[in-house]
Amino acid sequence: MSDKHAKIAGPAQGAGRVPQADPGLKYRRLRPEIDRAVARVLASGTFILGPETEAFENEFASFLQIPHVIGVGSGTDAITLALHAVGVTAGDEVLVPAMTASATAMAVRRIGAVPRLVDVESDTRAIDPDLIERAAGPRTTAVVVVHLHGLPARMNEIISIARKRSLAVVEDCAHAHGAHLDGRKVGSFGDAAAFSFYPTKNLGCAGDGGAVATRSADIAARVRRSRQYGWDRNRVCMEDGFNSRLDEIQAAMLRVFLPHLNEDNAKRQMLARFYDAELAPLAKRHALKVQFHADGHVYHQYALEIEHRDRVRAALARRGIGTAIHYSPGLHRHPLFRDNGGGESAERGFPVTDRLANSLLSLPIQPELEPHRFKVISGLSEVLASGD
Ligand SMILES: *Cc1c(COP(=O)(O)O)cnc(C)c1O
Repeated sequence: MSDKHAKIAGPAQGAGRVPQADPGLKYRRLRPEIDRAVARVLASGTFILGPETEAFENEFASFLQIPHVIGVGSGTDAITLALHAVGVTAGDEVLVPAMTASATAMAVRRIGAVPRLVDVESDTRAIDPDLIERAAGPRTTAVVVVHLHGLPARMNEIISIARKRSLAVVEDCAHAHGAHLDGRKVGSFGDAAAFSFYPTKNLGCAGDGGAVATRSADIAARVRRSRQYGWDRNRVCMEDGFNSRLDEIQAAMLRVFLPHLNEDNAKRQMLARFYDAELAPLAKRHALKVQFHADGHVYHQYALEIEHRDRVRAALARRGIGTAIHYSPGLHRHPLFRDNGGGESAERGFPVTDRLANSLLSLPIQPELEPHRFKVISGLSEVLASGD
């Protein structure tokens, strides 16, 4: 591969380039503390399910104000283990929004359940509460709600419909660490919630990691068993299990990052306000829509809707400005999930998901990238004005 290609394909780190996200910047900001934490774990000789993981579980539980947090191997695992723990079994149908990471639907398949895709609503970009009732069939036992881009879904409506239809609710909070609605953190509304600590998330580690949060002691106990071979306290297998554990090094790093989460989320919100204000005049002249605002939004992504998205994205890349797409295509267009959009949803199609999949563009919003904000806006203004 030539240097030129390496430059295009690799992370945009050269002079003047603005990456869409760069977890290394977060590490460098807190490097002495992180290095000490990692060294402490290595010296301790306890690498799996030790004091760091337990301390992190308690600290994250108190941050979320949810009694139980169980560290697991990834966000995908957290969704799978949460679904299993709330009682979803093979052959059950689980409602999943079509506009989400493929991991959300994949997590359903891994316990032999069948994802049933549902369109999202325009404002929140989360599963449309009005469609849940229509999509739920006799085999439907749960719904996974994704707080997309960090904006809380309409949980009150969703929970009341789910109760009426006896559906368990699992929140996919992979974008929404610290997001809140009506004074409550997301993750506390459903029967269980899944978090990912993938490096680019609002709370990320330096590898894979995840957690399940729940208010139920029974669900928590079930996740604790199934994350480790289905063992009970005496290491006796009581049921089928997985091996999905948050390791001590990741937990120790998460303990360094967690106390900074509120201030980092506040920086994301300030950056979003800046983009909102700067883009407002452009939005009038160009086909561009800024994101719906809510106080509890933690802006994992600042995702605009913009016409000619792919052309704009390429023009920004030529100016050294990295962007990303979360997500395209909609899950109903992935070959693996092609048959999962049946019934009423199929007749109606997925108009909102399709529109978003064709128009969403995520600008850099990571707190450490704040100094580049003017460059992002001037680049975007230039691209829109020139139409190149
Ligand atoms: C990142 C992500 C996941 C998966 O998390 P992993 O830790 O990568 O397994 C699930 N759902 C959403 C919405 C995500 O963004």
